[in-house]
Amino acid sequence: MTVKHLTKPYVVHALINGKAVAADKQFSRENPTNPDEIVCYAPVNSREDAIAAIDAAYQSFAAWKLTEVGERVKRMRKAIEKLKASVGELAQLLSLEHGKPLYDAEGEFAVSFMWMEFACDHAEEVLREEVRQHDKGKTIITKDPIGVVSAITPWNYPISLSTIKIAPALLAGNTMVLKPSPYAPLTVSKVVELIAAEFPPGVLNIVHGEADVGVELTSNRKVAKIAFTGGTETAKHIMKAASDTIKKMTLELGGNDAAIVLRGFDVGDERAMRRMVISNFLTAGQICMIAKRIYVHRSLYDEFVQKYIEAANKWIRVGDPFDPHATIGPVNNKKQAEHVQRLIDDAKNRGSEVIPLGTVLDAGLFEQGYFMQPTVVLGCGYDDPIVVEEQFGPTVPILPFDDEEQVIALHNESIYGLTSSVWGREEDAIRVARRIEAGTTMINTAAVQGLDVQFPFGGVKQSGVGREYGIEGILSYTETHVINLPHHLELPYIPE
Ligand code: NAD
Repeated sequence: MTVKHLTKPYVVHALINGKAVAADKQFSRENPTNPDEIVCYAPVNSREDAIAAIDAAYQSFAAWKLTEVGERVKRMRKAIEKLKASVGELAQLLSLEHGKPLYDAEGEFAVSFMWMEFACDHAEEVLREEVRQHDKGKTIITKDPIGVVSAITPWNYPISLSTIKIAPALLAGNTMVLKPSPYAPLTVSKVVELIAAEFPPGVLNIVHGEADVGVELTSNRKVAKIAFTGGTETAKHIMKAASDTIKKMTLELGGNDAAIVLRGFDVGDERAMRRMVISNFLTAGQICMIAKRIYVHRSLYDEFVQKYIEAANKWIRVGDPFDPHATIGPVNNKKQAEHVQRLIDDAKNRGSEVIPLGTVLDAGLFEQGYFMQPTVVLGCGYDDPIVVEEQFGPTVPILPFDDEEQVIALHNESIYGLTSSVWGREEDAIRVARRIEAGTTMINTAAVQGLDVQFPFGGVKQSGVGREYGIEGILSYTETHVINLPHHLELPYIPE
């Protein structure tokens, strides 16, 4: 099946307690390559729908939390098998509604499978109860599920950022209501339906909509944990909404990740330069951990810029997501394209030089879709908005620095601290990396190229709270419960 040419829009439903639920109101999601084409209609769920989904998850939790971990793993593995069997079609749907090229959509599924399989492989060991005999008696430590989890996800990596939450949450015995972004509601709904079918009704539910549904999911007293990926500003609302009932939280938020190129970096290394370009422009720059500002040691700056532009012109090919030659598609939505353009215009007004990069495979597409010419920005000030704000699009500033102290300070001044990268001789790069305030620092690579699902991922400062991936990413869906059996049941210092 090929979904490139739609015959008619898909219709998306909410899934509540195992049943597809239609809503009175619907919104449409357009094709970012050609916004005149509607990819799908999805429900604008009401707060009542959100409450029904939370109630279903709450009721199913009572039985689900008592199941054996082995049974949960078996069900999850079956779900992964089914997803793998449909991945060709699912990746096409993702390309269509998101705008990312097909190879990129397939890559997103591949990372999702890697993580889901890691979670299955490790769940029994991580969740196993521990029994300790010690000089004061015996203690049993269990990893209990938390309860109903509200998962709220963004549009840029809708599948991996949903499965990153679904797999560990369900394996640990929680139930879930997921709300995806209105900018990518279709493929994730199909993925959720396929997974949910392998679990008892109510264990995994999905509702759609905007802030009012989000507010219910983050304030309802039956919700025990929020797993949110999205913008830092949205997270502030969520923290407030959740504060009345003191919910557990994992927040994966925005970043302004820096690439730091040290004096010892070999600018003639074409593969390294290609990795650098990919770390700025994959998915048209719409990745939380994309390198969004590049600082280059002044002694290399001119040569670096020249080689960078050469490498970018080779790798960047903007085109239809279904064109096998395209490395970059359109920006996902109009609001995002306008935000990026505003930052570029502001940089120009401040006197920066904005240089276009790459090849445009089909200029006609720019007339209809949310396409942007990728650019590099030179000559900006360290505090310019294009440097200190998250662009989340196909543009990147390159700035010179004079010494390590200065560049470490420039890096750490940011309110963000998601990932970062240091490029150069290994020992120099590690020395600088140790002083960087970030959740992950990669050496001589960056962004998804250096991502490994077996290690925890998350941000410091305003880039987030908690970690996903790795063993921590499973444990974050558990509460530690201590069952104590002391030899001495009474304390000696308490008077009769
Ligand atoms: P967003 O914050 O606008 O939206 C994220 C989700 O929150 C959407 O589903 C949205 O409908 C929902 N939402 C909006 N208002 C809400 C409210 N008041 N209560 C509850 N939910 C609400 O983010 P976005 O534009 O979809 O995604 C881009 C942002 O996500 C960028 O800042 C990016 O850096 C960040 N991001 C972070 C990571 C990470 O792992 N740290 C990964 C991907 C994206």
